[in-house]
Amino acid sequence: MRIVPEALIAGLVSPEDAFAAIEAVFAAMSRGEARNFDVVREALGEGRQYGFKSGLDRAGGQLGVKAGGYFPGNASRGIINHQSTVFLFDPETGRPVAMVGGGLLTALRTAAASAISIDRLARPEARVLGMVGAGHQAAFQLRAAARVRRFERVIAWNLHPEMLTRLGAVAAELGLPFEAVPLDRMREADVIVTITSSPAACLLGAHVSAGTHLACMGTDTKGKQEVAPDLLARARVFTDELAQSVSIGEAQHAVAQGLLSPAQIVPLGDVVTGQHPGRQGAEEITLFDGTGVGLQDLAVAAMAVRRAEERGQGIVVEV
Ligand code: NAD
Repeated sequence: MRIVPEALIAGLVSPEDAFAAIEAVFAAMSRGEARNFDVVREALGEGRQYGFKSGLDRAGGQLGVKAGGYFPGNASRGIINHQSTVFLFDPETGRPVAMVGGGLLTALRTAAASAISIDRLARPEARVLGMVGAGHQAAFQLRAAARVRRFERVIAWNLHPEMLTRLGAVAAELGLPFEAVPLDRMREADVIVTITSSPAACLLGAHVSAGTHLACMGTDTKGKQEVAPDLLARARVFTDELAQSVSIGEAQHAVAQGLLSPAQIVPLGDVVTGQHPGRQGAEEITLFDGTGVGLQDLAVAAMAVRRAEERGQGIVVEV
């Protein structure tokens, strides 16, 4: 098997590669050619979470698992809070094929999912990007969003305002004016990305204007929540994977409160394959509940392994 360490990933998979790979995975899921297995997610105490996301993509020939989690004490140790490794197996024989560093790949595949939702669901004339959250993932989200719409400015809110300086620097790199704002000014945004580890709704219905697209990316575990459930009741809701959306995604709360039926939630892959028209009017609020699926991890990891093989990179070991 080939070991592709974290340090090689940046040279192997670009954000554009991730966008194409994740769009192909969402389409394969929509066609029933690929499926995610049940997520295992366990609390380890002191806010630490550990688990497994896995799946089988028959179309892409991928079988594998991402093992990892969220370790909130890491930032003070100078390492990122998300830690993960992807393991790929031969779907015919079960033999291990590769072990791949999952940190950057997670950020790239998560930002790609959000950008695909913006590309497919936001109004074409969207000009103001709202960011809720300013942690590790937020910078990737901002860069990916800026690739799919011609934003003219960025407004941002974070519970810990001192973290916004770093996000502002990313906006500056992209040539976008950046302003830290209170949550009620999110009404100015055409697209809002939420990417926090919040345990309760920050963004309320009153903070969102008609016609906005929301990419809700932070809620990936039972008990997390970024937006008020009534917003999901008001919006047309899309997701990467329905089973995850209603159990560990943002929709868990609206569904539990009877404000949203699982039958109303549309897989984003159905929009990619043309089975669903997506946005159905300029005044509609569209909301993507991006929970993060194992198949996303396998797709970008497989791309990294293919490129590493072509270039003779990584470490090959017998197992
Ligand atoms: P991080 O630890 O670097 O940043 C956390 C962010 O959440 C910061 O903006 C912080 O200020 C904010 N925050 C912390 N506590 C809060 C609270 N009580 N209320 C509101 N905001 C709060 O984390 P990250 O790596 O940027 O990840 C952000 C979130 O995205 C996490 O919840 C993570 O699990 C999730 N995530 C989701 C996917 C996916 O595929 N959907 C992938 C990766 C990460």
